[in-house]
Amino acid sequence: MCIFCKIISGEIPSEPVYQDEHLLVIKDIAPAAPVHVLILPKKHIDNISQIDAELAAAVFPKIKDIAKLLGLEENGYRLVVNTGKDGGQTVNHLHIHLLGGRELAWPAG
Ligand code: AMP
Ligand code: ZN
Repeated sequence: MCIFCKIISGEIPSEPVYQDEHLLVIKDIAPAAPVHVLILPKKHIDNISQIDAELAAAVFPKIKDIAKLLGLEENGYRLVVNTGKDGGQTVNHLHIHLLGGRELAWPAG
């Protein structure tokens, strides 16, 4: 079982900032911004290349609610989905980084 599946199953304890039937949202262990959470689909897929319409529909409309919950609605935020080697993905369970709380630099390194 991958590390995020272990967190989702409760084998590794976490303090979710949000969860519903399809999603678990946890704080990133190594935050890159004042607010940095990971939106984890409960169903394991390796990366965004495997997403289908059903999962996309379960995830994307929730993002604005999670951002609001975290106080990011007014100033904005960034979503990052690292994919594969060149994308810098280190955990092969689809996750969306949600970052905010400061002005973020662009472009990415
Ligand atoms: P990525 O490089 O896009 O695959 O991102 C993986 C992210 O997961 C990194 O930002 C890590 O800091 C984070 N991470 C790894 N293990 C844990 C964990 N046990 N709990 C929370 N975040 C984690
Ligand atoms: Zn997994």
